[in-house]
Amino acid sequence: MSGRGSGRDFVHEIIDDHNRNGRFDGRIRTRFPPEPNGYLHIGHAKSIALNFGIAEEYGGKCNLRFDDTNPTKEGDEYVNSIIEDIRWLGFDWEDRLYFASNYFDQLYDWAVELIRMGKAYVDDLSAEEMSEHRGTLTTPGKDSPFRDRSMEENLDLFDRMRKGEFKDGERVLRAKIDMAHPNMNMRDPVMYRILHVPHHNTGDKWCIYPSYDWTHGQSDSIEGITQSICTLEFENHRPLYDWFLDQLDIYHPQQIEFARLNISYTVMSKRRLLQLVEEKHVNGWDDPRMPTLSGMRRRGYPPSAIREFLSRVGVAKVNSTIAVELLEHIVREDLNRTAPRYMGVLDPLRVEIEGVGDRDDFMDVSVNPEDPSAGTRKVPFSKDIFIERSDFMEDPVKKFHRLSPGKEVRLRNAYLVTCTDVVKDDGEVVALICKADPDSRGGNAPDGRRVKGTIHWVSAPHAVNAEVRLYDKLFTVEDPLSEKGDFPDYIDEDSLKTLNDCKVEPAVSDLGIGESFQFERLGYFCKDPDTSDDGIVLNRTITLRDTWAKIQKQAQK
Ligand code: ATP
Ligand code: MG
Repeated sequence: MSGRGSGRDFVHEIIDDHNRNGRFDGRIRTRFPPEPNGYLHIGHAKSIALNFGIAEEYGGKCNLRFDDTNPTKEGDEYVNSIIEDIRWLGFDWEDRLYFASNYFDQLYDWAVELIRMGKAYVDDLSAEEMSEHRGTLTTPGKDSPFRDRSMEENLDLFDRMRKGEFKDGERVLRAKIDMAHPNMNMRDPVMYRILHVPHHNTGDKWCIYPSYDWTHGQSDSIEGITQSICTLEFENHRPLYDWFLDQLDIYHPQQIEFARLNISYTVMSKRRLLQLVEEKHVNGWDDPRMPTLSGMRRRGYPPSAIREFLSRVGVAKVNSTIAVELLEHIVREDLNRTAPRYMGVLDPLRVEIEGVGDRDDFMDVSVNPEDPSAGTRKVPFSKDIFIERSDFMEDPVKKFHRLSPGKEVRLRNAYLVTCTDVVKDDGEVVALICKADPDSRGGNAPDGRRVKGTIHWVSAPHAVNAEVRLYDKLFTVEDPLSEKGDFPDYIDEDSLKTLNDCKVEPAVSDLGIGESFQFERLGYFCKDPDTSDDGIVLNRTITLRDTWAKIQKQAQK
């Protein structure tokens, strides 16, 4: 695996070759061509980073082109989300925003040209009959009885298709290539179908729509694309794209195929993601458990981490699956460098401190120990605090270095305290009494004695309530599509846990939606857009535990 920064991948090698032999006069024009039928996922981000990245590296340009040929599944909601997501990732198409639907007139004229050349015909076969005639991988197809219509009849029927004289599915326009061709895509592929459906861009102008195969290569040609980079499944469409361009004798881009990005414990296809949304397995396209860019943004993944991940994964010619832990590791690295630190308690246990904190006391705390330039902030302390319930054990197990009766711990950045009493209600621990060493302000022992445990806390009178949402992998298995049954059967019911009574330090109130920060010892978090005057809602982006390092270590053993 070679990253884009290090060494050359095969795509770069092909482009270097083009530049050396003058194929495009040194010009570089790439494009990202999404179909607006869903939200973008991180797989699309790979294609975005590759296309925009190449344009930048070689001093070329990259277009954004919506491949909007199927009005039944496409719409403006998707167009807008795709635009927002690409901007968020940090890429810019300037004024080069295009729609394949802008080329419908040109495509129509070219279709007429093919009919005149005897290279396209109107077929009346039904969809089922057509698929019966198509043959199989091992047997040739059969010619349609309508294949040898006269050019005049084809022109007339195609014109009437456009005028709306026929019903959906009654006729199609097909390329006349070879029904026995070993490549099934060359067996007289459909160029136009009748669809009495309005289009998000062209409205009611058309009731026939070009197929993706008839549209894609010509759109690239119109835009003067040099390298048309796409994923491997289009490799055996390339002869067809070449055939169309050759018949029309127009400018010819070079298609280059690379392997799709797959990530473990998720699914990466808009169709599947749409199913999750429609069947309400998740709370929308931007559910923080989704592999969508909008989901990752909501969860708090920085775009810089996603770009770094894509660059480390690199470009390959063979399909593979990347461990999700690598992505998480890079998100963690990025946030460790940049995220300010705060304290918050997810499962609060009340503690009364004796000896200090009678009046408001503010502790000076470093904003980010990894980044001294971030400075310090003041954290309110008082004699009533909350600590994490799991940081106390009445009967401590071996190696439990946190709080237990008679034991001393460090309240991070505040004081050393010893638990002197446990308050119970009906057998349940409801509060603790602790005695502080007044000379340990800042958390340092005056006599240098060793205090192993350090725990976080929030001052109770200053604390702000928050709802915190904890996320885990959406699926319980690495590849939900390879399992028996339907993939939603493998959704982890515990992948979203909501905690309603968390206590956080007041400074968290001032953070903006989506701004990342660390809760000391707990992980990275950000404010969810569901935050309102009724309360703060936080997403846990990721814990501090680096599972990638563990996986690496195991692999080395
Ligand atoms: P999906 O299967 O998720 O619907 P798609 O390929 O149909 O994806 P498009 O909107 O047609 O989605 O894709 C736009 C571009 O993104 C195409 O060039 C496609 O090859 C690329 N792309 C899609 N998925 C991936 C992926 N997992 N890895 C890399 N590139 C991808
Ligand atoms: Mg597609």
